[in-house]
Amino acid sequence: MTTHSDPIRITRATTRKPRPKDSELGFGTVFTDHMFIADFEEEKGWYDPRVEPYGPLSLDPATAVLHYSQAIFEGLKAFTGRDGKIRLFRPHKHAERLNHSARQLCIPPMDPELVLKSLTTLVDVDREWVPKSVGHALYIRPTIIASEPFLGVRPAKQYLYFVILSPVGAYYPEGMNPVKILVVDKYVRAVEGGLGAAKTGANYAASLHAAEDAKHAGFTQVLFLDGVHRKYIEEVGTMNIMIRLGDEIVTPPLGGTILAGVTRDSALTLMRDWDLTVHERPISIDEVVAAAHQGTLREVWGTGTAAVISPVGELAYKGERIPINNGRIGELTQRLYDAIVGIQYATAPDTHGWTVEV
Ligand SMILES: *Cc1c(COP(=O)(O)O)cnc(C)c1O
Repeated sequence: MTTHSDPIRITRATTRKPRPKDSELGFGTVFTDHMFIADFEEEKGWYDPRVEPYGPLSLDPATAVLHYSQAIFEGLKAFTGRDGKIRLFRPHKHAERLNHSARQLCIPPMDPELVLKSLTTLVDVDREWVPKSVGHALYIRPTIIASEPFLGVRPAKQYLYFVILSPVGAYYPEGMNPVKILVVDKYVRAVEGGLGAAKTGANYAASLHAAEDAKHAGFTQVLFLDGVHRKYIEEVGTMNIMIRLGDEIVTPPLGGTILAGVTRDSALTLMRDWDLTVHERPISIDEVVAAAHQGTLREVWGTGTAAVISPVGELAYKGERIPINNGRIGELTQRLYDAIVGIQYATAPDTHGWTVEV
């Protein structure tokens, strides 16, 4: 079994790709010069951790992941701080969640220290790719796929772990922009006993139809309701959701159908630090609509690594359009964004020890 003390082989790329200017970066289209790889076989465990030049994977067409979707991933970021140092944001929490997803999909877990080492080693090799301007970052995508060439339904006996890196631009080039969200009751994303709490492509495949319908109707995102009653708010599908009702901040509990977002956890921790009234409890869409009618619905925002905090300017449900804070960014929404981004770029003290220097 491979442990973090096993040496990581590094094969450097002989040619370097041109690196776009920070101002030209979008999201997820540009990749760096190297990738991290490790293999798993039943007899050996995870073995041969290595850094290689970035390039295509060669897979047999019978490879299990291509047929039965046994795959998981993570998404985190590295930032260049104001002091010029490169830091990862909460990598331990992401390594922990990778193993949580692994257990759900019968994928063998990895030593969290090896995961951490893979991230710091790869980011270090490609460190000149980490954008330097505030708002820009290096997105890190660890992935595990079932790599055994085998057609049959059972957990695979071989796996591939890889990590790729993508320099990304500011999620909001013109500043934070409130989004319009359609609340759907025709489709569901996940049900209790399903894969909703795992970060796996299958959940994204299940969300596409709803997202396309919403896009055609002029909305940016979809808010899913619970799969049983189609009543309780779950999540946006790429983001967790938080709602400020009067002086209470509510977010749906982690009941197995939604993802345990790291940004969700960061926002909850900060708001508790600030002595705000925060509850993880079931909240129905009817409660939100009633609050809007009574004038107590103050702010709604999404949380996720890509956008950090995403203000919601409008919710639409059963044909009714519900404006939130007159479509403007709420005060707490902005405060959370500034606080998290401040820690990420080292302009604010990291009192919780969330960042890891590379
Ligand atoms: C990744 C993800 C989130 C956000 O999680 P973060 O750790 O905050 O980036 C929320 N929902 C789903 C379904 C996700 O895959």
